[in-house]
Amino acid sequence: MKRLAIMGSTGSIGTQALEVVSANPDRFEVEVLSANRNSELLIEQARKYNPNAVVIADESKYKEVKDALQSLPIKVFTGEQSLAEVTQWDTVDTVLGAIVGFAGLHSTLAAIEAGKTIALANKETLVVAGELVMRKAAEKKVAIIPVDSEHSAIFQCLVGENPDAIEKVILTASGGPFLGRKPNYLVNVKASHALQHPNWSMGAKISIDSATLMNKGLEMIEAKWLFGLTNEQVDVVVHPQSVIHSMVQFIDGSVKSQMGLPDMRLPIQYALAFPHRIPNNYKRLEFKDYPKLTFEVADYKTFRNLAIAKEAMIRGGNAPCVLNAANEVVVNAFLQNKVGFLEMSDMIEKTLEKVTFITSPEAEDYMKSDAEAREYAAEFVKKSQLSIY
Ligand code: NDP
Repeated sequence: MKRLAIMGSTGSIGTQALEVVSANPDRFEVEVLSANRNSELLIEQARKYNPNAVVIADESKYKEVKDALQSLPIKVFTGEQSLAEVTQWDTVDTVLGAIVGFAGLHSTLAAIEAGKTIALANKETLVVAGELVMRKAAEKKVAIIPVDSEHSAIFQCLVGENPDAIEKVILTASGGPFLGRKPNYLVNVKASHALQHPNWSMGAKISIDSATLMNKGLEMIEAKWLFGLTNEQVDVVVHPQSVIHSMVQFIDGSVKSQMGLPDMRLPIQYALAFPHRIPNNYKRLEFKDYPKLTFEVADYKTFRNLAIAKEAMIRGGNAPCVLNAANEVVVNAFLQNKVGFLEMSDMIEKTLEKVTFITSPEAEDYMKSDAEAREYAAEFVKKSQLSIY
């Protein structure tokens, strides 16, 4: 029986993780659930899964959750510090990092510090502070099992392999809802349109990141740190069917891929159950439904976020942290129709130019760079024509 802390239980990954738990009551037990503001769903989940504790990050929602659960033996906490503390409890075996954005870094680092196994969906943690996170994980002998489908695929391809035998990893990208589109089309797209991903149903932020291809850029950085690769060993190919979840090419030219239907419950289940594979009754991949699997080169010119992210990866230091912060600010603004689709790349690029570069950042430098980048990016957002009118 694995006792789980599901951080971000009300999100797309969190709710699917709870489906996995429901299907495997003899394997998983919920110890902690957490949300930011969605008190209603958190209360409903707490009643159903009966955890030891819940954390509602937004303090204004604390009383509502506390009152609703008062007749149950469930501890209720609030605030960022509580998110970190609950991951360190002795009663927790595995922490699922499914909070979105930079906000997930603190609790993941706390869980590593306490020696917990990490099932990591929150890619921003590795984008922002990959060197620090992986160094701490190595020090504490903590396993970080990826949940992101591409990284889960690579992880699965590498089971039983010597890491020195990797020539490169190839991340597959669906291309998002605007595959094949050019800037004259993209200039007018709105959030409602960008949220319609062709193959995956996900949270709002990652859906926009998929539409701009920033998601693939973030995943390149995530892969670099997770698998200890050089920049040159991380490649991307567009594969619109999203059936091959990613590949590893080895030094003998052999390529291994992991395939399946696009269903996040699979990588979630794999990460939570690792090192075991457990059965399920989810729909199977039928090759007859996919007579053609196609591949194409990513359009770095139109989807500039991919090029900007790659540059930030190569530059290293705090550049990916700045990239991530600026991206979070502009995506949030785009979701509120305050900036245009193409403007997002300009603003991220300009923020990267402004923020002081730090070659070898430590924990506090990441906090400062994140804050500095958010300020610059917010200024750029304010100056956007869409924000003004
Ligand atoms: P969602 O937006 O659906 O959910 C995010 C979760 O984090 C919610 O529980 C939310 O609470 C909580 N949260 C948000 N902000 C804070 C905060 N400041 N403090 C504490 N908790 C917070 O995101 P997804 O589930 O889509 O994504 C989660 C992570 O997983 C992301 O990093 C994403 O990149 C990654 N990922 C997601 C995939 C997917 O298919 N969705 C695929 C691969 C990776 P509330 O509900 O109250 O807002």
